[in-house]
Amino acid sequence: MTIEASIHHIEQQLAGQAALIAVTKTKPVNLLQEAYDAGCRHFGENRVQEMAEKQPQLPGDVRWHQIGHLQTNKVKYIAPFVSLIESVDSLKLLEEINRQARKYNRVIDCLLQVYIADEETKFGLLPEEVIDLLQSPVLDELPNIRITGLMGIATNTDDDAQIRQEFKSLKQLFDALRPVERPNVSLRELSMGMSSDYLIAVEEGSTMVRVGSAIFGSRSV
Ligand SMILES: *Cc1c(COP(=O)(O)O)cnc(C)c1O
Repeated sequence: MTIEASIHHIEQQLAGQAALIAVTKTKPVNLLQEAYDAGCRHFGENRVQEMAEKQPQLPGDVRWHQIGHLQTNKVKYIAPFVSLIESVDSLKLLEEINRQARKYNRVIDCLLQVYIADEETKFGLLPEEVIDLLQSPVLDELPNIRITGLMGIATNTDDDAQIRQEFKSLKQLFDALRPVERPNVSLRELSMGMSSDYLIAVEEGSTMVRVGSAIFGSRSV
């Protein structure tokens, strides 16, 4: 299938229930432009330098999502333009995002990445840590960030029941935390689902799927 056909196919499956984030990491800008021409406006990258290089080469209405682990010393490279940082896993990182966003007079939307998988991945907050972070008094000192939801990555497995259970547990946490009221917290987005599991994710309440290989083909790296 062409990029355009894949995007239309996925959009049809999503049926407006979830936004499609085209994951463009490792792909050259001409393929991003193809996705743009097919109607995509949300692009996800996992490496800061790569996103910062691609951003000026695409139309200005692209919404850039940082989906990979973000080191505090790299926030400055994407702070002028990034739309959503999906991989926030510490208060320290939020403080740095706030500091950089303030320089550009922006408010940067962020998702807290929650650790839901049953594997040794290094990043993400435990549910208890998410709860603690959302109660932290420090948030009151961060007017240039807004926490708009949660993100999670399911285990890389063929066991659909396990994947579904992980998404269910993230949705439960999301629903439990939605009532949290703070000036810079408004939980609306639940980013879950990738090429192999986005249909399950949408059934379990995802509002945002991050799809790479199902659009662009497999990555060699
Ligand atoms: C690479 C990546 C994706 C997309 O993976 P595909 O399997 O190619 O759809 C989604 N989310 C994150 C965080 C990623 O790093």
